[in-house]
Amino acid sequence: MNELSDSENRIDILSMYPEELEDYLKGMGYPSFRAKQVFSWLHEKYVGSVDEMTSLPKEMRQQLKDDMCYVEEEMRQTSREDGTVKFLFKMHDGQMIETVFMKYHHGNSICISSQCGCAMGCRFCASTIGGCIRNLTAGEMLGQIYSAMRLTGERISNVVVMGTGEPLQNYDNLIRFIRLLTHEKGYNLSVRNITVSTCGIVPMIDRLSEEKLPITLALSLHAPTDSLRRTIMPVANKYSIDETLGACERYFDKTGRRLTVEYSLMHGINDSVNDADTLGRLLRGRGIHVNLIPVNPVNETDFKPGTPEDVHLFKNTLEKYKINVTIRRGLGADIDAACGQLRRRRTRDN
Ligand code: SAH
Repeated sequence: MNELSDSENRIDILSMYPEELEDYLKGMGYPSFRAKQVFSWLHEKYVGSVDEMTSLPKEMRQQLKDDMCYVEEEMRQTSREDGTVKFLFKMHDGQMIETVFMKYHHGNSICISSQCGCAMGCRFCASTIGGCIRNLTAGEMLGQIYSAMRLTGERISNVVVMGTGEPLQNYDNLIRFIRLLTHEKGYNLSVRNITVSTCGIVPMIDRLSEEKLPITLALSLHAPTDSLRRTIMPVANKYSIDETLGACERYFDKTGRRLTVEYSLMHGINDSVNDADTLGRLLRGRGIHVNLIPVNPVNETDFKPGTPEDVHLFKNTLEKYKINVTIRRGLGADIDAACGQLRRRRTRDN
């Protein structure tokens, strides 16, 4: 697969940089102003189909019709409590992905998927149960954002790549997606408003630090020791916590972006006061922000969240080490909140 097409070699104009689009359309005999028009329809007006590009000749629209990997709304759940919207999008090959749109005081955020399924095998996560089916193209990642904006009529100011998939395993498409989303001729989002979450693939973190992109990096740690981490995250068999935090430190040195550590609290597994103390000693003095997430129970697994008191005790213990800690706001608690649950339910029902 190359980055301008998907696994079936379908051309995807939404994944093309302006100069690539220009070359592609030139090959079809069109002058360069047509490429500018198409780029603007895609990245400034977020059209859902080539048919809507009304300034193009009909014949051209006909020719381009199959050259875009659309994501189409298959289903939507809206939280009555806080307005969070969870979309299930269908891709041209029938595969489904999830996207979550969230409202915050400081602007709207979106959580997008980077792969269809996931190969990392974290034991508490619904997204990985069926393995990784395929990578998403850059256009399919952009399409989640553009479709959500078109469908909600709202703008988005923060993007987190924290949905289904391991973004650093779909590296080239991820970088292309970020460069397109922040392109001055497109949506022009600030790179600083993008967060990429990883389970910690050390060589890829080092590679990311060379891109000169000040993205916020979030590390899914979930355990203060290697032995505990190995029981819930297979990636821990490959890279130790020491090596992983080392790569994150190099990332900070190169980009100036402080690390966020994500820690899903699983009752009786990693949420004791002793765990909090060990984590505090591990992370103190490094300028790391810790985000605690009470685990979302997944049908196929036994992991359960603790009580709010357990969560607060963990937070208070960490704070003794002068670590900046937040508890993830439980958005969309009344809809299938945990990553991958809606997609799984849909796949099972069909
Ligand atoms: N592969 C990337 C990004 C996707 S997962 C990563 O590992 O970071 C996004 C975050 O949700 C990760 O921190 C992941 O560990 C966490 N997560 C997955 N399933 C969860 C669940 N059931 N409850 C709470 N957090 C979960």
